[in-house]
Amino acid sequence: MIIRLQPDADPAAVSGRLAALGLWVDRFEGEGRQPLFVVHPWSAEASREQIEALDGVAEVLARQHGRPRLDAAPPVIDVAGIPIGAGQRPVLMAGPCSVESEAQIDAIARQLARSGVQFLRGGAFKPRTSPYAFRGHGEPALGWLSDAARAHGLRVVSEALGEATVERVAAHVDLIQIGSRNMQNFPLLRAAGATGKPILLKRGMAATIDEWLLAAEHCLDGGASGVIFCERGIRSFDPNTRNVLDLGAVALISGVHRHPVVVDPSHAAGRRDLVLPLARAALAAGAGGLLVETHPDPGRALSDGPQAVDLAALAQLAAEIDAGAPAGGWR
Ligand code: PEP
Ligand code: MN
Repeated sequence: MIIRLQPDADPAAVSGRLAALGLWVDRFEGEGRQPLFVVHPWSAEASREQIEALDGVAEVLARQHGRPRLDAAPPVIDVAGIPIGAGQRPVLMAGPCSVESEAQIDAIARQLARSGVQFLRGGAFKPRTSPYAFRGHGEPALGWLSDAARAHGLRVVSEALGEATVERVAAHVDLIQIGSRNMQNFPLLRAAGATGKPILLKRGMAATIDEWLLAAEHCLDGGASGVIFCERGIRSFDPNTRNVLDLGAVALISGVHRHPVVVDPSHAAGRRDLVLPLARAALAAGAGGLLVETHPDPGRALSDGPQAVDLAALAQLAAEIDAGAPAGGWR
């Protein structure tokens, strides 16, 4: 964003007023007598109207980004009666990486509902690195998942892996998950949006925050009723954890951009002993909810067992959320 000053304005005074709005600027000599101010990308969000109302500002010449639909999106999104976002009670989305059988997902749903979880998760169509790994039970698993959720009063979230199946996924879920590997599959983002359902948009494992925000703009432009961001860790050089949980991104998107963010500590950590500490840190950073892979017998899980917590650990996390924010709030 570029700011042009009025001919008689004092540049130092104007930059002070901008700083008071959380906007940090570099000064460039323009064609006229007055410098131009270029706003740093890590500044706070402020509208063109707010800036142009400041004493000494002539006009804002360019917007910083092109995300009109996301800018207009509300900070809290209602998903099947559950509000997610700023100032709301953190939501818990839990369940196995993959839906493994009808009986198992029903038993898990029963336990999770008792713990106070709001959303049942489980993959029917699984993106797997190896084509020989378990790739999910497909459409039948969607039915098992949604039946189990309805039977126990839970909402449903599951991944849409491709355009061919997105409508079938949408018919069974309250929230369509777009996986990390598909964050920039633009035809899929638009097809998921066209279903009119809200979307849980996982961050690509090497995606910048701007790319992630623009992917959300595609979903909304395609027709999605809302987008919830899901930070699940980004790739780094260090194999000790599966990914690096970017809590800066969580604080930025939830606290500065004011969009709902859910954190998935399971895919971030890749190991179950780190899941609860990361979950607590995520809430402290401003996450509006958590997506946690949970399995009754993690050692036997058909996918992502090492990072799955058992039902007792999930119940503990739910109890901590129930007990309320620590002194001073989660953040
Ligand atoms: C998942 O949620 O099971 C999954 C595949 O996640 P991600 O897309 O973040 O890897
Ligand atoms: Mn998984």
